[in-house]
This record gives sequence, structure tokens and C-alpha cells, in this order.
Amino acid sequence: MRKPMLAGNWKMNMLNHQLAEFFSVLDARVAGGLKNALEKIDILIAMPATLLSNGSDFSSKYGVEVAAQNVHWQESGAYTGEISVAMLKEVGIQATLIGHSERRQYFAETDETVAEKVTACLAQKMKVIACVGETIEEREAEHTEKIIEKQTVAILKAANADPSQLIIAYEPVWAIGTGLAATAEHAQEVHKFIRDLIERELGASTAETMRILYGGSMKPENTAELLAKPDIDGGLIGGASLKPNSFADMINFGLLNS
Ligand code: PEP
Repeated sequence: MRKPMLAGNWKMNMLNHQLAEFFSVLDARVAGGLKNALEKIDILIAMPATLLSNGSDFSSKYGVEVAAQNVHWQESGAYTGEISVAMLKEVGIQATLIGHSERRQYFAETDETVAEKVTACLAQKMKVIACVGETIEEREAEHTEKIIEKQTVAILKAANADPSQLIIAYEPVWAIGTGLAATAEHAQEVHKFIRDLIERELGASTAETMRILYGGSMKPENTAELLAKPDIDGGLIGGASLKPNSFADMINFGLLNS
């Protein structure tokens, strides 16, 4: 049985002085409080680098896991602007997003650099949520499976040594921040396709245990339907995770479904 995960992605939003209010509203609005919810659902928020140190203190208080949004694969060196796994761990961070489509699109990340990052993180026991997803042009050309296979296999091969800390997020690029979420049926189809790839590359027991999150305009209105699908193990949520009331509503739907 896979424990569901609802993960927020705050992107380049929020300031340190907003954290206390955010967590206090979230805690009050989640049925039974966050600590209680965490028995059934993993809750994580990927924060900008400037929030990570404070975020880690809130993580200790409320139990919500705080993650980075990116990391470099080298341990140290002349990589201006980058942050290493050890640097994240120093401020209490044990998880990170990797390969979000905005990083692939605006910061030239490739399957190769994503793979380097996945390998470096997993080797240092850092939890990874690695993102895959097709663009609208790729979808319209009926290349969804081809693209998802290429991106996912690069990640799975990079995780070969120890995939236990790896989570995959399927995020169709056309659904991110557009309000146009994939239908639950479409998302389930792609998630099943990804699960079959995991089985082919890493074996049946890893396929059974690895979580696959859906991301792309997930909101309270479509959460229950998406989470009800057998291969959708949770969500990666952008815009709606910035509003504690909406994020809490989604967690409450997750609790009903778990
Ligand atoms: C995301 O940033 O990963 C995302 C899914 O954004 P949104 O929920 O706003 O579409």
C-alpha cells in the first residue's frame, strides 16, 4: 500500500515573514490538525532557497516536510549560483524537486542533467521528486508516451542503485499553471504507463512501492477524482498550495480517500 503524498511547489513565491501565518492557517484548517493528518498522508512543500532554513524550523514544529526546488550534482566547486546536497542538508533539508518543466524550459535542464542530479541525491540519501511531462505540441503530435518514456527511463536508470527515495511526478506541461488540468482518466493512463516502465526498468516490487504524483492545475475541485485513481498516489501542487485554505481542503480530500 503506497502512502499518498500531497506536495506543494511554491516556485518563486513567498517571503519568510509569511511562513508563520501560512502554517498556522493550514494546521487549523486540516481536519484534526497537521500532525494527525501526517499519519495517513505525507505532506511536503518545496520552497525557494531563501525560505529553507526557516522552513526547516516550521517542519520540526508541524511535521510537514520541507524540500528544495533544485540542487546541483557536484559536491562543491566553481558553480556560481548553485547549491549542493550537503548545503541543503546543513539547513535541515532532506528532499528536493528535480527536473520541473520550468527548469527544463527556462534553465536548459536536460534528461542528462536531471539524471546527474537524481544519482547525486539518492547516493546521499536525499528524497527526490523527479518531474516528467509532455508539452502541448508533443501531446497534439501523439508523442506523449514517447516523451514520457524517454524522460522517465533517464530518471529510473539514474536511480538504479537505490530507488527507495525516488518519487515520480507526472506533470503535463500544458496543465501547469493554466487551469486546464488533465482529466483523471488521462492522468491515470499515463501513470499506469509510468508504473509499467518502472516495472520494466527496476522490477515489480519497486513498481508496486514507488509513488507517482500528478501535477498540473490540481485544486480542491479535482483532487478527490484524481486521488481515487489506482495509480495516482498524490499530487504536486503549484498555485493552490500557496493558499493555506485551498491546500488544506486538498489534504482533507486526501484524508477521506486514504
Ligand atoms: C507545479 O508547479 O508543479 C504545478 C503543478 O503548478 P500548478 O498546480 O499551478 O499548475
